[in-house]
Amino acid sequence: MSHDADRVAAFIDAAPSPFHATDVAAATLRWAGFAELDVVGRWDDAASGPAFVRRDGSLVAWTDARGGPAGPLRIIGAHTDAPGLRIRPNPDRGRLGWRQVAVEVYGGALWNSWLDRDLRLAGRLAVADGTGTTSVLVDSVRAVARVPQLAIHLDRDVNTSGLRLDPQQHLTPVWGLGEVRDGDVRAVLADLAGVPASSVLAWDVGFVDAQAPATIGADASFLSAGRLDDLLCVWAGLDALVAAVGVTGSSTAVLVLVDHEEVGSETATGAAGAWVGQVLERRSEALGGTRTDLLRALAGSVCLSADVAHAVHPNHPERHDPDHQLIAGGGPAVKFNANARYATTAVGAASFSRAAESAGVPVQHYSHRADLPCGSTIGPLTAAGLGVETVDVGAPILSMHSARELVAVADVELLRRSFQAWVTAP
Ligand code: ZN
Repeated sequence: MSHDADRVAAFIDAAPSPFHATDVAAATLRWAGFAELDVVGRWDDAASGPAFVRRDGSLVAWTDARGGPAGPLRIIGAHTDAPGLRIRPNPDRGRLGWRQVAVEVYGGALWNSWLDRDLRLAGRLAVADGTGTTSVLVDSVRAVARVPQLAIHLDRDVNTSGLRLDPQQHLTPVWGLGEVRDGDVRAVLADLAGVPASSVLAWDVGFVDAQAPATIGADASFLSAGRLDDLLCVWAGLDALVAAVGVTGSSTAVLVLVDHEEVGSETATGAAGAWVGQVLERRSEALGGTRTDLLRALAGSVCLSADVAHAVHPNHPERHDPDHQLIAGGGPAVKFNANARYATTAVGAASFSRAAESAGVPVQHYSHRADLPCGSTIGPLTAAGLGVETVDVGAPILSMHSARELVAVADVELLRRSFQAWVTAP
């Protein structure tokens, strides 16, 4: 496995939930000398960086305070969540000798890809701690459940008429045999966390593909993994931020990791929520700046909204605009959409292209077919919420929103190098 693919594979495997993603990112940042700021504390001098602050599945980090409170920022934004199955509050279900776990689909998952896959459980628990509550990460590591597909003998037309799934009925995983037992799921979660079941008050826990990421292909040219969307970009952004410490550039490097992109970002810590803007405001204030200083900083800043893109599919080439087919292994893509489903402007695109060129990284251009609805990213929300010039960029992948996605190993390195060059651009 290439060194970069190896590193991103390890990152994805260690980040089965948004909470794990920010936990691993925090550990990497602490190791690189970044100070962790208390999300409810005063920041003062520590805000001059390198520093970071996190809240649940979201995190904001920056390298320094060059230019003072009005100094421009180069922000890389990526999301920590991925489509999947989330465990419901009353989860004990089952019948006919099967014990099951009640789930709800999170985001725009490709449902069929979750069938017949060994599922690992991961997330965080809210645990009673004296009179307060603490958040405790849980991860089963091994597979504990599966959504079994109906045998072909019981669904003869499935291959030719298409697979139809009702998310209420057909996506409920099995995880044991025997009678349904009240408190079964809670007991397993408590056991994973090492706490008494009675102390588990609530959870944000889901199922993910248990299979570890792997390089595959005749010449090992693909990385196959769940959550490449968007942990590949989270990893590349994190790597670029750490590499930017102490490097001379015109702007302060900032990393914004946000949860809930796959469900629209309208949450406290999502890209459309207030938290990210509040963090940048508190940082500016801690540096002695006024509100005008912050607004001056944002007016001179650029955001790289980092999310994966659609590589051209060899079996479905007609699904892509013929002049904007992204070649796997051909380098990162700048994504354009006239109706602002992507936030890229000419100026934002130019900032990325110039940086990539300086690093010898080829850049591709993506534009969606006019007769298909286009997806979106945190780009438009960041541009609108912060008033910041934005460019939407990502590595081309196949099988987006499948339980297991596919990227060219070559694109992992090209993405990392382009992010590094952009965030430290003169
Ligand atoms: Zn995404």
